[in-house]
Amino acid sequence: MNDIKAIDRQYVAGTYARYPVQIVAGQGSLVRDETGKEYIDMGSGIGVTAFGIADELWKQAVTEQLGKVQHMSNLYYTEPCALLAKALCEKSGMKKVFFCNSGAEANEGAIKAARKYAAEKKGPAYSTIVTLQNSFHGRTLTTLAATGQEHYHELFQPLTPGFVHAAAGDLEGTKALALAHKAAAVMIECIQGEGGVVALDPAYVQGLAAFCAEQDILLIADEVQTGNGRTGALYAYQNYGVLPDLVSTAKGLGGGLPLGAVLLGEKVRNVLGFGDHGSTFGGNPVCCAGALSVLNRLDESFLAGVRAKGDYLRAVFAQAPGIESVSGMGLMIGLKTDRPAADVVKACMEQGVLCLTAKDRVRLLPALNIPQELLEKAAAVILAACAV
Ligand SMILES: *Cc1c(COP(=O)(O)O)cnc(C)c1O
Repeated sequence: MNDIKAIDRQYVAGTYARYPVQIVAGQGSLVRDETGKEYIDMGSGIGVTAFGIADELWKQAVTEQLGKVQHMSNLYYTEPCALLAKALCEKSGMKKVFFCNSGAEANEGAIKAARKYAAEKKGPAYSTIVTLQNSFHGRTLTTLAATGQEHYHELFQPLTPGFVHAAAGDLEGTKALALAHKAAAVMIECIQGEGGVVALDPAYVQGLAAFCAEQDILLIADEVQTGNGRTGALYAYQNYGVLPDLVSTAKGLGGGLPLGAVLLGEKVRNVLGFGDHGSTFGGNPVCCAGALSVLNRLDESFLAGVRAKGDYLRAVFAQAPGIESVSGMGLMIGLKTDRPAADVVKACMEQGVLCLTAKDRVRLLPALNIPQELLEKAAAVILAACAV
């Protein structure tokens, strides 16, 4: 038999510190490795498989579309793309959608839209994008520049110019930075995911939204990780009672196939015109058909279930031995643990539960439809691993 791990180590670029586990199959929130060992998946591919592995409705939508047309160029209309854009706008309060293939690309699209809007409205000097310290916006050279964590930047200079980083929570400081640098936009994650599952203060987000509206500076919500039901709202900004001008999303949107989207609000609905932006694969009919089957199920009663499951986990972990604090919203949860997060994750893996880390926290992003029974089993394993 081929040693897949050895082949991978020899031939796949070493950008990931892989765990010594090869996943071969799964169903819902259970996955199996090459030895037949079963795991409860509390990471869902970093918040991607919103309805778990091989979800029936998603699979049906995807395979049905595969049998019709797997790809057409964006020179032609296709049904899944149009219907998904309509559903996204109706549920989010945004007006138009640009489709791409990943979170980084969605942020690039949002940044291009913001720069064009500001250039036309105020002049080309108004190009700066203010982002927050400890943020994460992607791995392309521009989204790295947007990312407010120096260690991602070090070996990749020069990055795209025109980004400055404000301290999250410091409203006056953020405003001053935006004005001093002639900002086109301020970009935030309502809950910083890779930054350790850190939720922004509602007063800060609301103050920022009011400031942006007053100054005609665009507010961009990076909902790549927080979007598509993850936090118990369709988009996390809805938990904060604000309406951004631009929303970027990806991860859970496609339910497991690569799909990103820039949602354009009222001010910028027509800012991207012919030739301004594009993507060969963007709006792929198979990805969009799968996404539509995900989005159609994210109604208010389903989202209430996501919040209930999140509340259940928060109650279980609150004041538990070895757990210092619990952060996040809905089914996006961070645990500050006494043991190093990596040790907790390793212990959980041995006991058949797959968890993630985010900086110094244990991070949980289970499928949104994870059965309560599996949630309870996984929680017991995580509690035991934290208590050591
Ligand atoms: C994952 C992530 C990205 C990057 O998404 P990719 O699909 O990996 O390009 C951007 N922003 C946030 C908030 C993310 O969590």
